Amino acid sequence: MPDSSFVGSSQKNATTKRDVKQVPFVELYNHRVQGVVSSGSDIERVYVSFFEAGTLDFYCSTNNNRPCGGLGGYPCKHLQAVMKEAIAAYGIDQVINYLKVPGDLSQITSLNDIINRRGTVKKEPASEVFSRFLNYLRYLELQTANSPLPEMSWFV
Ligand SMILES: [Zn+2]
Repeated sequence: MPDSSFVGSSQKNATTKRDVKQVPFVELYNHRVQGVVSSGSDIERVYVSFFEAGTLDFYCSTNNNRPCGGLGGYPCKHLQAVMKEAIAAYGIDQVINYLKVPGDLSQITSLNDIINRRGTVKKEPASEVFSRFLNYLRYLELQTANSPLPEMSWFV
């Protein structure tokens, strides 16, 4: 899989179990911690949330590119869920490193310590994150298919 963000994943500091139902997709990619969060109320809707490395600017929108209603000057619950799951998946050290969280690293030990160093809202379309998510889903679906896969023919 090209550009996979799973390769560098370290489970070393991961102590929490991933909640894939709430956050089916989270990755450290393209200088962001980004992920897809299920809507609690509407099964058709998901939220796409990211934090940007360096600035810790953040944004959250639906898969239809509508801004998240919970997004004020503070990261909404979706952004917090993505950060929580990133820490669970990669370990907090790797997340802090990847995001280049500013400040005294010895003082940054929790989700809230990272959130407290947040930047500002940065409006960016979510389509790239969402299409990457769909692409991963497609690979998952491929594994359970019984029909021949033309793309795999070069293995033969
Ligand atoms: Zn949100």
